[in-house]
Amino acid sequence: MGATSFLPPVFDVHVDSLQRAVDLDQDLGTLTPGHLDLVRGREGGLASVVFVSWVDPAYIAKGPGSARRRTDDLLDAYHALVENHPEQVRAVIDGDGLDSAHADGVIGAIAGIEGGHSIEESLETLEHFHRRGVRMMTLVWNNHLSWVRSCQPGAGSEIPEGLSPFGRDVVRRMNELGMVVDVSHASEKSFYDALEVSSSPIVASHSGCAAIHPHVRNLTDVQLRDLASAGGVVGIVFCTPFLDGEAAALERSERESEAYRSLSHDNETGLFHLQADHLQATLPPLCLDRVVDHVLHAVEVCGIRHVGVGSDFDGIQRRPAGLEDASCYGNLAQALLQRGLDEDDVCAVMGGNMARLFRAVTA
Ligand SMILES: [Zn+2]
Repeated sequence: MGATSFLPPVFDVHVDSLQRAVDLDQDLGTLTPGHLDLVRGREGGLASVVFVSWVDPAYIAKGPGSARRRTDDLLDAYHALVENHPEQVRAVIDGDGLDSAHADGVIGAIAGIEGGHSIEESLETLEHFHRRGVRMMTLVWNNHLSWVRSCQPGAGSEIPEGLSPFGRDVVRRMNELGMVVDVSHASEKSFYDALEVSSSPIVASHSGCAAIHPHVRNLTDVQLRDLASAGGVVGIVFCTPFLDGEAAALERSERESEAYRSLSHDNETGLFHLQADHLQATLPPLCLDRVVDHVLHAVEVCGIRHVGVGSDFDGIQRRPAGLEDASCYGNLAQALLQRGLDEDDVCAVMGGNMARLFRAVTA
C-alpha cells in the first residue's frame, strides 16, 4: 500500500469513445467492452476528459453537409451521455465548470473535434459546434485539407504546406471563441503556422517524442521546446506503434496475417475494435516503461509544466502493458514516481497542466 494507492486526478485530453456509443450502441456510463467508459475512468482517477468527435473522411465524399451531420451525431452521443449519467459526469465548457465538476466528484467531460474537415470550410459551422459545447479542435487528421496540411505523406500540389489564409482565420476564430487549438496530426509547417497565429497556448493532444521513435506523428525536440515556450502542453499518447519502432514492425507483420485479414464486422467501428482485440491478444504488449520514456523525455525538453496525457483510448488499437484501459492511469502515475518524479510533478503531468491550459484558453 502507501505509494501504490497514489492516484492523482487525471485529465485525458484525447479519447475516441463516442464512436462506440453511436455505431455500437454502447452506453459509456456503464461497463463496456472498449477502452474507456465512465465506470473504469472513475476507477482510474479520471477527473476530466476530452471526448472527440472524429469523422471518417469517407463522409466528405458523401457530399456537403455529411461531415457536419456525422459530427452532430457524435455530439448528440456526448450530450446524451452527460444527460443520462449526471451522477457520474457533467458537460464542461470552461474552468468554472471544471472546478464545480471536481467539487461534486463527477467527471468533467469536454467536447472536442478531431479533424477540421468537420467544419466543411465554414467559420459558421465552427461557431455552430462551439454553440454545441465544443472547446477543442484538432485542426487536421490524417487527411489533408484545402486549408491545412497533415503530417502524412501524399499531399497534392493544391494543399498548402501549412495553414492557408482561411486556416489562419480558423485559428483566430478559435482564439476568439475560447477553443483550444490542437496540432497533433499537423505537418511541421502547419504546427508552426498555428503556433505563430494563435494568441492562446496550443496543445498537441496525442503525440510522442520523435527523438525516441522517429514516427511521423511524433514531435521533434525543437517542436516540443517551441510548443512549451508558447505556453503549450503535449499529451503523450498510448499508441504502441508511435512509441516504439520494434513494436511497430511486429504490428505491421501481424496485420499481414491471414487471421487479421479475415476479421470482419458490419461497421467500421466494430471492425476497428475486433482488430484491436486481435492485436492485443496476439502480440506481446509494449512495456509501460516505454511510455514513461516518452513522458520523461518530454519533461526534460519542455519542462514539467508542459507535459500531459492524451491516451487516444478507443482511437488506438494496441495498448501498452498496464495501460489497457481507463482503469489503469494509476499505473502510469506509479511508474513516473518510481522513475524519479515527485508527487507534485506526477500530478502536473497526469492532469494539472492540461487543466491549467484549458482554464486559461476558455476563460
Ligand atoms: Zn488522432
